[in-house]
Amino acid sequence: MKAVPGLAEGRLGAERRVARGSVGRMSNGFETLAIHAGQEPDPSTGAVVPPIYATSTYKQDGVGGLRAGYEYSRSANPTRTALEECLAAIEGGVRGLAFASGLAAEDTLLRTVCRPGDHVLIPGDAYGGTFRLFAKVLKGWGLAYDPVQLADLAAVRAAVRPETKVIWVETPTNPLLGIADIAGLATLARESGALLVVDNTFASPYLQQPLALGADVVVHSTTKYVGGHSDVVGGALVAADAGLGEELAYHQNAMGSIAGPFDAWLTLRGIKTLGVRMDRHCDNAERVVELLSAHPRVTRVLYPGLPGHPGHEIAAKQMKRFGGMVSFQVAGGEEEAVAICDRTRLFTLGESLGGVESLIEHPGRMTHASAAGSPLEVPGDLVRLSVGIESIDDLLADLTRAL
Ligand SMILES: *Cc1c(COP(=O)(O)O)cnc(C)c1O
Repeated sequence: MKAVPGLAEGRLGAERRVARGSVGRMSNGFETLAIHAGQEPDPSTGAVVPPIYATSTYKQDGVGGLRAGYEYSRSANPTRTALEECLAAIEGGVRGLAFASGLAAEDTLLRTVCRPGDHVLIPGDAYGGTFRLFAKVLKGWGLAYDPVQLADLAAVRAAVRPETKVIWVETPTNPLLGIADIAGLATLARESGALLVVDNTFASPYLQQPLALGADVVVHSTTKYVGGHSDVVGGALVAADAGLGEELAYHQNAMGSIAGPFDAWLTLRGIKTLGVRMDRHCDNAERVVELLSAHPRVTRVLYPGLPGHPGHEIAAKQMKRFGGMVSFQVAGGEEEAVAICDRTRLFTLGESLGGVESLIEHPGRMTHASAAGSPLEVPGDLVRLSVGIESIDDLLADLTRAL
C-alpha cells in the first residue's frame, strides 16, 4: 500500500524527534536547548555541528528503503530537521517547521487552517507585510479580516464572528510596540472556537513563550532576532498540538515554501547565541530609552518597559524583559523624523530588525508605507530603532548627535 506522502514523512519526523529528544529530557534550560536541541553530534563523523546537507535526493536501499526517513529535500532535509527540532524545543512546542521567509510561513499556516469564507482578526497595527498578505492576497482568495485593537479584550470579543477561525496576535506590535494579553486572548479564542496565532518575532522565544500562555501556533520571521545577524531570510511555525503540527507539515511539503539547507544552517548558528544576544539588546535598549525619555526634542517614547506604557503590567507578566525595539516621536513632525533617520551614522538606515547591528527607520515611508490611507497607517513623526549589541556609549553618542 502506498503511503500518503507528507503524512508518512511527518510520522518519520515524529519518530526521529522521539529518538533525538534526549536533550529536552536532560534539561529545560533555554540556552541548553538553543545550543543542543536537534543537534546531537553526527553519528558517522562525530561532527559537533550539523552539516549543510546540500542534496535534493537520497539513495534508497531498494525501492522504498529509506535509510533515515529522507527521500526528497522538499519533504525533509537533515539540516532543516535539526533547525525544526531546535525551534520546537525553544518555543516549548511539539512541532517546528522552517520556511523560506516569515511570510511564506504565514501563508502556509493560513491556507492550512482557513478556508475561503472564513474570517480572521488581525492587530490594529500589524506588521506591514502581514497586513498586505491579508489585504492584497488572501482577501482575493476569500479570507475576510478585520483589524482590531488587541489590547482591548472587549473590542476583540465584540469583533469575533461565527466564521472567525484565527485571532492573529503580535505583541509587542510593530512599530507602535503595543502589548496584547496572550493568556487573555487564548481564553477568548478557546471560547470562540478560533485558533490563537502569535507572531513572536519582536519578543523572541527567549523573552516570551506564547505556547505556554495558551497560544496554538507561534509564527516567526527568523530573519530577525532568531537568526540575529541580518544575513538570512527565513520563517518558522511552531505548533502546540501534534495533529495541527502534522497538518502544517503536510502543507509545508505540498506548498513547498521550505527553508533551504544553507539558510537552515545559518539560522541554527544564530539561535545558539539568542539568549546572550537578547540580554544585550535589552540592556542597550533600556539605556537608549533613558536617553530619549530625557531629550527635549523627543515628544514620546514607546517602550513596554516604561512604567507609563499602557501595556507595561501585562508585558511585565508575560515577558522576561522588554526587548530591543524602541520607537519614538519627535518635535518637528514628519520632516524632522525623516531627517533624524538620515543623520545617524552607527544606526544604519534600513528596514528589518533584530540583528546584532543597530538600525533606524521611518515606518511611515518605509516598512509601513503600504498601510498609508488604511486603518493601520502610522504617525509621520515616528522613528523606529532596532537597538543592536554594539558598545552602548557609541550608540548613545550617535543618537545624541542625530537628535
Ligand atoms: C519581518 C516580519 C515578518 C515577515 O517576515 P519575512 O521573513 O520578512 O518574510 C512578519 N512579522 C513580523 C513581526 C516581522 O517583523
